[in-house]
Amino acid sequence: MQSRGLVASTSRAKKEAPSRNGAMPRTTALVVAAGTGSRAGSGLPKQYRIIAGTTVLRRTLDALLACRAPAGPIDAVRVVIRPEHHPLYVAATQGLDLPPPIHGGETRQDSVRAGLEALAADSPDRVLIHDAARPFVDPALVGRVAAALDRHEGAIAALPVVDTLRRVEDGIAAGTVPRDGLWAAQTPQGFRFAAILAAHRAAAGLALTDDAAVAERAGHRVAMVQGSPDNVKITTEEDLRRAEMLTLRQGSAPALPDLRLGNGFDVHRFASGDGGGTVILCGVPIPHPRRLDGHSDADVGLHALTDALLGAIAAGDIGQHFPPSDPQWKGADSALFLRHAATLVAARGTILNVDVTLLCEAPRIGPHRAAMIDRIASLLGIAADRVSVKATTTERLGFLGRREGIAAQATACVRIER
Ligand code: MG
Repeated sequence: MQSRGLVASTSRAKKEAPSRNGAMPRTTALVVAAGTGSRAGSGLPKQYRIIAGTTVLRRTLDALLACRAPAGPIDAVRVVIRPEHHPLYVAATQGLDLPPPIHGGETRQDSVRAGLEALAADSPDRVLIHDAARPFVDPALVGRVAAALDRHEGAIAALPVVDTLRRVEDGIAAGTVPRDGLWAAQTPQGFRFAAILAAHRAAAGLALTDDAAVAERAGHRVAMVQGSPDNVKITTEEDLRRAEMLTLRQGSAPALPDLRLGNGFDVHRFASGDGGGTVILCGVPIPHPRRLDGHSDADVGLHALTDALLGAIAAGDIGQHFPPSDPQWKGADSALFLRHAATLVAARGTILNVDVTLLCEAPRIGPHRAAMIDRIASLLGIAADRVSVKATTTERLGFLGRREGIAAQATACVRIER
């Protein structure tokens, strides 16, 4: 990728040169948090004001960090602050995995340029410039802007203007402005890095309204990407109050943990005419006159639990990961399936608790319950008090009541962190 200056506006859709290693483009989110604006009242700059217990900046950062690869297109998040806000910044970003902040300048444009210059050493392929005062940026919006950069040198979130626009002179309407083709700009504003860095260097000292204007001045085409009505900029005390309402109404504020539930169910029949000797339930071999039929070791408990974990992270089901048609799983220890699901969950977050119910007339589960709990806890790497194993009969009703097989159902709760 290279800066193309004025020539850039002549072709409609340019293919981006592949990044150095030929892999996905590397994208850095640059959060501009260097403003001193305290129009929202308290004297605190608006990015450090609090919405429902969490600072505006922290909400913005949480939202962008949730868009990091592999969940989203962002590889790194950098923040531009005012040096004298450092203590506020440290308090707002406690516990976040962020590189040191970049010191901004007098105006927003100076701060963005300082941020881009700081990124130049590690030169990402793309940068998404975002105002700290827009905490309700969502992953879909970030994804739309990033995706548009496959085809354009610049792409910004914006909404078509729907209100009628009036020109006003001395408090009196002095004509209607046609709103056809008018869009209201938001952030993130995304650009190919080298192009926007060069454009900002060339615009130093000028007063342009946003980064899209800087890019346009350098001759780059900037695509409009559908913004979000919730992606408001917090400016006034009223904005803060409305933002608090929105946060509480959504109940999905980044400050609340992202909890996911999954459930699983499995049945295996007893093998016919077999003396058996053992069934394996929740990883524990139990003496029984009959054995369970199945391609693997037929551990219904671990199968249901594996499906519950996969369900919690929307990662398909056990049959997709371990097809019964594949001979390598013949007679397999189902601990392998559960560990695989646990590894997938670990890449996204933490298992909070699991709950398994075994449904059968026999064998009796009670004497083996503690061993089952210990086995599951050790396979999942979680404390035994986060594992529940229960059992019930079906009152001799149905196929379970006729002792034709054993069923299990399971629930898993996962907190997504990445
Ligand atoms: Mg099964």
